[in-house]
Amino acid sequence: MKQLTLALVAHDAKKDAMADFVARYENDIRPFVLFATGTTGGRVMERCPSLSVTRLKSGPLGGDQQIGALIAEGKIDALFFFVDPLSPHPHDVDVKALMRLALVYNIPMALNPATAERLIESFRR
Ligand code: PGA
Repeated sequence: MKQLTLALVAHDAKKDAMADFVARYENDIRPFVLFATGTTGGRVMERCPSLSVTRLKSGPLGGDQQIGALIAEGKIDALFFFVDPLSPHPHDVDVKALMRLALVYNIPMALNPATAERLIESFRR
C-alpha cells in the first residue's frame, strides 16, 4: 500500500498542542511520511525523537508556501495545521494561501486537535 504523506504546521501558541498530539498518536502517525514547517518539525522531533520528519523552512520564511507547493504537486495526503486564532500573524497571507491550496486540492485539513483526532482515527480503517 502507498505510504501516505502528512504535513504538520502549528502556530507558536499551538506548538505544545501539536507536540502533545503527535506524542499521543505517535503509533498512528509513524507510518506516514512526515513534512513540517521548521519550528513545528523541530518541536515534534524533540518530543518524539524516533519519528523522522522532513523539516522545511519556518512558516514565516516560506515554509507554509513550501507545503502549499507540495500540495499543488499532489504530494500531501493530509494537513494538520493548528492555527492560533487569537494572535495576528505577519505571514497571514501565507497562512491563507496554504489553507486555500488545501481547499483547492481537496486535501483533508485539520485546523485543530479535535479534528485531527477524528482524521487520524479515519486513517486507521
Ligand atoms: P514554524 O512555522 O513551524 O516554523 O513556526 C509555522 C507557521 O507559523 O506558519
